[in-house]
Amino acid sequence: MKDFLYKAFSRLNVKIFVLVCAMAIVPLILFSIIIDFVYVGQSIKSESENLYSRSEVLTRQVVTSGYMNSQSDVTMELKLGELAQLINGRVMLVDSNLRVDYDSYNVDKGKVFLWENVTRSAKGEQLYSIDRDSDILTTTIPMTDVIESKDSNTANSVKIVGVFLASGNVSYIFDNLKYMISFELIILIMVAVFAIVVGYIVGNKYSTPIKDASNQFNKGIMGDEIKSIDVMGYDEIEELASRFNTYVNKMENIDQSRQEFVSNVSHELKTPLTSMKVLADSLIGMGEDAPVELYREFINDISQEIERETGIINDLLTMVKMDKSSVTLNITTVNVNELVESILKRLRPIAEKQDVELVLESFRPINAEIDEIKMSLAISNLIENGIKYNNPGGFVHISLNSDHQYFYIRVEDSGMGIPEDSLDMIFERFYRVDKSHSREIGGTGLGLAITHMAIIMHSGEIKVASTVGEGTTFDVRIPLNHIEEER
Ligand code: ADP
Repeated sequence: MKDFLYKAFSRLNVKIFVLVCAMAIVPLILFSIIIDFVYVGQSIKSESENLYSRSEVLTRQVVTSGYMNSQSDVTMELKLGELAQLINGRVMLVDSNLRVDYDSYNVDKGKVFLWENVTRSAKGEQLYSIDRDSDILTTTIPMTDVIESKDSNTANSVKIVGVFLASGNVSYIFDNLKYMISFELIILIMVAVFAIVVGYIVGNKYSTPIKDASNQFNKGIMGDEIKSIDVMGYDEIEELASRFNTYVNKMENIDQSRQEFVSNVSHELKTPLTSMKVLADSLIGMGEDAPVELYREFINDISQEIERETGIINDLLTMVKMDKSSVTLNITTVNVNELVESILKRLRPIAEKQDVELVLESFRPINAEIDEIKMSLAISNLIENGIKYNNPGGFVHISLNSDHQYFYIRVEDSGMGIPEDSLDMIFERFYRVDKSHSREIGGTGLGLAITHMAIIMHSGEIKVASTVGEGTTFDVRIPLNHIEEER
């Protein structure tokens, strides 16, 4: 039971529910109690002040009439009786020896009245008290007489000659209190019902997305598919739910692209193997009668397919190594002009073979903080493509420039160009505009994906513009100073 209660109270929705209810109900109860106390206190105070002032008026008359000495003044007794009627209660006069001189009830006259309030008032105090059994309020005030001094030099003295007691029924105060309490109870019940409903709704709105997200995480841990959750709740909770959904979406995309990648890789790796198998099988089928030239041609084809397969595996390895999560850049300050020149030196023989002219235009010396190997790979791929997808007699124009923040490389070719609807896709892994042509010239479809990855790792940007039949221009922008990114 203790465990159950502990578990229940540790739940967010129960906590919020209890908090909302407590915040609505506790102040209301406290407020009601204070109001009730103030009402009863103030009512009794004003009732007793009323009795005091009436008593004081008569006290003066009683003392001046000399009633305390002879008790023979009938008019005085009438006045005292009238007051008793007016306050719907009792009036008593007690002398300084605590003997009752007058009692409007006519029961205690002549008796000694030993009540604490009377003895204290006989010493000068003005007091009131309430009897909760009968709801009777009783006030006692001292009756004083002025004794004139016979000697003109000494002041007159004041003497207490008795106690004036007045008591009246104040049950109406407690009747009103009962009304007030029942009214407060009705309000309390209404507020409690409202607080319970609001507490329940608010508690659930806060806890449901968290509970849902936690359930989905649990599913993920168990290896099941994670699904999006309802976006509801307030501010931060809503934000949490929508972030969770963004995360789920991203995970779904990663999962999908991983599956696509795996199927692409297996397809790409299988293609050269299939060609080799076909070539080898045909050779076997032809037996020993096949002419040597044919053997040579087929073996040559097989060798090219092996080269292709090696190319794909190499590109794949480069890409895996560059995977953002597992790689750290080896940043050094590199002279970019020299880097590009060395790339061109390596590619020039290939360009010459294709009858493509390579032109470098450097506007200023550039030193930048980059990973030399990765940046060299990125730039090589762009220039290689410019040569590969070019026409005999064409050109690849490379220009290098910089400002105070970035360096810029433009690779412009006079080649076949890229159709507009393919421009968005060329950086995707294995994407090729014309599969057969790309295969023919030894493309793997991974070159631009690797270039893109390398540039993004350097916090750079790459843009492409192209016109089919006229040529393609790649614009690359890289910060001169390396920006350490949070991963
Ligand atoms: P590939 O190994 O096939 O060249 P890339 O990733 O380097 O793969 O390029 C993707 C595709 O983009 C290429 O197959 C080609 O169709 C197109 N492409 C890339 N660069 C150029 C270019 N300079 N001119 C024309 N087409 C290009």
